[in-house]
Amino acid sequence: MNRILIVEDEQRLSAFLERGLRSSGYTTTVVGDGVAGASVASDDDFDLLILDMGLPGKDGLDVLREIRERGERLPVIILTARSEASDRVSGLEAGADDYIGKPFHFEELLARIRARLRKDPASEDQAVLRVGRIVLDPRTHWVTADGSTVELSAREFELLRTFLEHPDQVLSREQLLSRVWGFGYDPGSNVVDVYVGYLRRKLGSAHFTTVRGVGYRFTP
Ligand code: CA
Repeated sequence: MNRILIVEDEQRLSAFLERGLRSSGYTTTVVGDGVAGASVASDDDFDLLILDMGLPGKDGLDVLREIRERGERLPVIILTARSEASDRVSGLEAGADDYIGKPFHFEELLARIRARLRKDPASEDQAVLRVGRIVLDPRTHWVTADGSTVELSAREFELLRTFLEHPDQVLSREQLLSRVWGFGYDPGSNVVDVYVGYLRRKLGSAHFTTVRGVGYRFTP
């Protein structure tokens, strides 16, 4: 059963959402402020987040940035009275998947929730990645470069996978830390640099460019 987190401070609206979603077969949790919302929103506990923008404690946009920064990938649908195009753009840029302006029809929200949940993240996570000369198979933990097997440790594998999912993008040390080593890892650690060094040795240093003061870019 899909678990939906609702971060919304208007109690009448959150009660309405809970009733509707529960009768549609979802389990729901409601949180009424941004600080609590940001701390409980995690991929392990929820499959989707419905997020209000105007929230006490912490603005919805900041909640969204915080959880994406932490590496949470659950789909987020913003639900808000702010319907200016610029609000919509900043919401999507901060990592939202969809955006519904208030007032809205419950059926429309439901349709969008279903569309987001249909993309099964578990199966997406298992897709073979082919980027340039490198092929990575998450199911078998098999990596090849130009057809030759490359032996990688579990961390090296996850780090490479993160790079392959974002070719040509600059990834910060913090992003790589939170994705590969998990939330709570010491941000002052040089473990990312050490492991990028390992990948360079095994796959060729030309793939991994250091972006000074920021992090690394993988180039196929
Ligand atoms: Ca509100």
